[in-house]
Amino acid sequence: MKFASYSHQGSKHLGVVDVTGQSVRPIAGAIDMVDLIARYETLKPQLASDAPGHALAEVRLHAPIEVPRRNIICVGKNYGEHAKEFSRSGFEAGAVKGAEIDDYPAVFSKGPNTVVGPYDDVKLHSHITSSVDYEVELAVIIGKGGRDIAKADAYKHVFGYTVVNDVTARDRQKNHKQWFLGKTLDTFCPMGPWIVTSDELDPENLDVKCWVNDELRQNANTSDLIFDIPTLIATISAGMALVPGDIIATGTPAGVGIGFTPPKFLKAGDVVAMEISNIGRIENKFVA
Ligand code: MG
Repeated sequence: MKFASYSHQGSKHLGVVDVTGQSVRPIAGAIDMVDLIARYETLKPQLASDAPGHALAEVRLHAPIEVPRRNIICVGKNYGEHAKEFSRSGFEAGAVKGAEIDDYPAVFSKGPNTVVGPYDDVKLHSHITSSVDYEVELAVIIGKGGRDIAKADAYKHVFGYTVVNDVTARDRQKNHKQWFLGKTLDTFCPMGPWIVTSDELDPENLDVKCWVNDELRQNANTSDLIFDIPTLIATISAGMALVPGDIIATGTPAGVGIGFTPPKFLKAGDVVAMEISNIGRIENKFVA
C-alpha cells in the first residue's frame, strides 16, 4: 500500500494512494502517520475499506511523516563513487586520499524542522551559506521498534520506504568539521511523495535518480549501497532503540553538485526532481 499525508479543501487527511486510479482515499482512526505506523496491525482492517477518494490532482501532498518524533537518521558516504567525489571535492573535513571508503557507516542526523513536502519550496539561506547541494536518497521507515536488531531480523522492522532530498550546505559541513549544522537548516529535507509499504518493493534493486532543471545529475541503483539496509539497521539500533516512525536516509550516489569542477551549487529558481523506482517522484523549487 501507499500511504500519504495530504490536504483537500483545507482539511488534512491520511490516505491510501491508488496510483493507477490517480486518487487518494482518506482513512480515519490515526492521529498522524507515526500513529498509523505504530498501530498498523490494529488499524489494518479499516484501512482496507472502500471509501470514495479524492483525485490526486486536487490534493496537496505533505511529507508523509510531516512531524517526525525524532531526528532523521542519515548515512553518509554509502555509495563508492559518491564517497570518492566527496573526498576529492575539498569539502570533506579530514579527507584522506586512498581511504574514501569507510570500514563503518558514517551516521549523522537532521532535525524534524528540516522536513517539507514533496512539492514544497526549499530555502537557500543565502545569508549563511553559498553552497547548497542536493542528495537523492532512499529512506527506510521503521515499523516495529527494537534495540540491538540482528541483521537477519532487520527487514521485519521496516514499515516502508520513501524518497528524501538530504539537502546540504557544503560550506557549513566543511567549516564546522561535522555534518549536523550543514544538514539541519529549515526546509532541508523534502520528503515523499508517500510511503510505500515494504511488501510492495525490493529495496535492494531500486533505480535512484535526480535531475536539476531537467538535467540528469544522479543515476544509480540501491544494489550499489556499500552498507546495505540490514547492516544500517543493526548498526544504528545497537544500544539505541529504534521506534515506529523513525526515518533512516540510506545515503546518496555520485553526481551531487560538489562532484563537478567547478561545483554546481543550487541557486534561486532551480528545480530539483528526484525519483526512485516503485516509489515515486518529488520536485522542489529552491528559493531565496
Ligand atoms: Mg546524504
